[in-house]
Amino acid sequence: MTSVRALLRVGPAVDLSGIDPRSTPGLPGRKVTGDDVKGWAREQLTPLGAELARHQEMLYAAAKASGDKRRLLLVLQAMDCGGKDGTIKKVAGAMNPLGLHIVAFGPPTEEERRHDFLWRIRRALPAAGRVGAFNRSHYEDVLVARVDSLVTERTWKSRYWQINGFEQELVNNGYALVKVMLQISYEEQRARLLERLTDPTKHWKYNPADVDARARWADYQAAYQDALSRCGTDHAPWYVVPGDRKWYRDWAVANLVLETFRDMHLSYPKPDFDLEEERRRLAADRESPLVRA
Ligand code: AMP
Ligand code: MG
Repeated sequence: MTSVRALLRVGPAVDLSGIDPRSTPGLPGRKVTGDDVKGWAREQLTPLGAELARHQEMLYAAAKASGDKRRLLLVLQAMDCGGKDGTIKKVAGAMNPLGLHIVAFGPPTEEERRHDFLWRIRRALPAAGRVGAFNRSHYEDVLVARVDSLVTERTWKSRYWQINGFEQELVNNGYALVKVMLQISYEEQRARLLERLTDPTKHWKYNPADVDARARWADYQAAYQDALSRCGTDHAPWYVVPGDRKWYRDWAVANLVLETFRDMHLSYPKPDFDLEEERRRLAADRESPLVRA
């Protein structure tokens, strides 16, 4: 099968307007999926999830058993209603909560604003052996910070290389980064915002400020394009996942994470005790000391 990473990876020349949010790159043809493509993709989440869970367990075990410093960090960025929460639910949700470290970033608190923009990010990093997922990230500091002029142009421009240096440091310290932008269309965002107004169980997700951000759509796309092209590096590439079809989005992100896991060549740690000896000890204590007493 073709690598989903190879298909979705974007380089310095990325043109976001050329990516169709309704497209489904890498999905096998009808011969494999049958006519119900959506149903097929949804079903695949079960075996994909099992594989993700197995890899997560090996990562966790390696850290516990031998002090392996590796970890995986999924960074999700998208416009409002882009599907960040849903993706975390479906993809991270397949793994063991004990080994997960999920963090959502909102506007910086007063304390956070007293530090440099990477301060709160460093504090939220997953420990060795864990799988982290960021719902928004340090990239907000070159996205909303730029579009809303929260800092000067000079400041946000200097952040691209700071981010590249930071991510290089993470990779050098055993992090595998999976940076994903979920790309939805302007029309799909409207539909999802309307859905939030229509369905009383979704009212809580609606934020009037999202419509203000929506009005700056083109500015956000330009900011995303710069972030992706300047910070899409060999050690920490960016992937753009077409996001209008939720079933494709979940399937694609699960594959991106799984392919990254496979590249880590994880395995279950060898025991640091004598298996035969331990078996003998257990065989020898068949009779309970309580019974003997
Ligand atoms: P939500 O993801 O819907 O909970 O919204 C979080 C909000 O926090 C979004 O409007 C983001 O633009 C905002 N946000 C996240 N990070 C930053 C940041 N570094 N500076 C300013 N606003 C931010
Ligand atoms: Mg929101």
